[in-house]
Amino acid sequence: MGAGLGLVAGDPAAPGTPVASTAAEVARLAATAEDLAALDGLVSVCRACPRLVEWRETVAATRRRAYAGEHYWGRPVPGFGAADARIGVVGLAPAAHGGNRTGRVFTGDRSGDWLFAALHRAGLASQATSVHAGDGLTLRHTRILAAVRCAPPANKPTTVERDTCRPWLDRELALLWSTLRTVVVLGGYGWSVLWSALRDLDVTLPSPRPPFAHGREVRLDRPDGPPVTVLGCYHVSQQNTFTGRLTAPMLDAVFGRARELAGLT
Ligand code: SF4
Repeated sequence: MGAGLGLVAGDPAAPGTPVASTAAEVARLAATAEDLAALDGLVSVCRACPRLVEWRETVAATRRRAYAGEHYWGRPVPGFGAADARIGVVGLAPAAHGGNRTGRVFTGDRSGDWLFAALHRAGLASQATSVHAGDGLTLRHTRILAAVRCAPPANKPTTVERDTCRPWLDRELALLWSTLRTVVVLGGYGWSVLWSALRDLDVTLPSPRPPFAHGREVRLDRPDGPPVTVLGCYHVSQQNTFTGRLTAPMLDAVFGRARELAGLT
């Protein structure tokens, strides 16, 4: 392992932050993170998936014409939001010219426009737009996590990449677990990855696993605290929002329900 390179202002990593270069190192380092700040630093310098490292850095070097004058992040994108969140939101992976450009999840792309506008309408985000990492946006009671932390080609991580990245999600959930009351899962991919992460957390799960569906709720009882409800929601991808499969009122209903489940109404 080497130290993180090319650090920038507001960077979650420090010059000595260890770099995971293999799946085993991801698992080992994730387990050492004592809080979300430490975890974010470790995630942000990870290089464990060679294909994704090459892709994210190539995209950052070549850039899209509209952003030719910008410096791309080109690194893994950590979770974003409150460290004592009651509501988790799980997405798939950063977009090549969204999170991979701005360094903040769902920031600077159309999917994020939909998500943050809905979070703002629900009183969970300080502003309706999420344009760049220094725009002052904060989340209330909410943290956004991703199943995979590097932008994948065609939005499709391989099975190995998915599994290599999961210890970061496992650890993030473990650090949030005592305050979480609900997890909104955007799409079937995140639904299945979340299930694996919950199994690793030793959460008692229904069997067989309920299939993903928009609006589906699965209540998970736990012996040491109030239940956590997993709540399915179509992904805010353009494929869904352009076609009307997912509408703003549908998103509002999901986040209104998440607020209820989190005891925020
Ligand atoms: Fe590391 Fe996850 Fe990115 Fe793979 S996808 S390099 S495990 S942060």
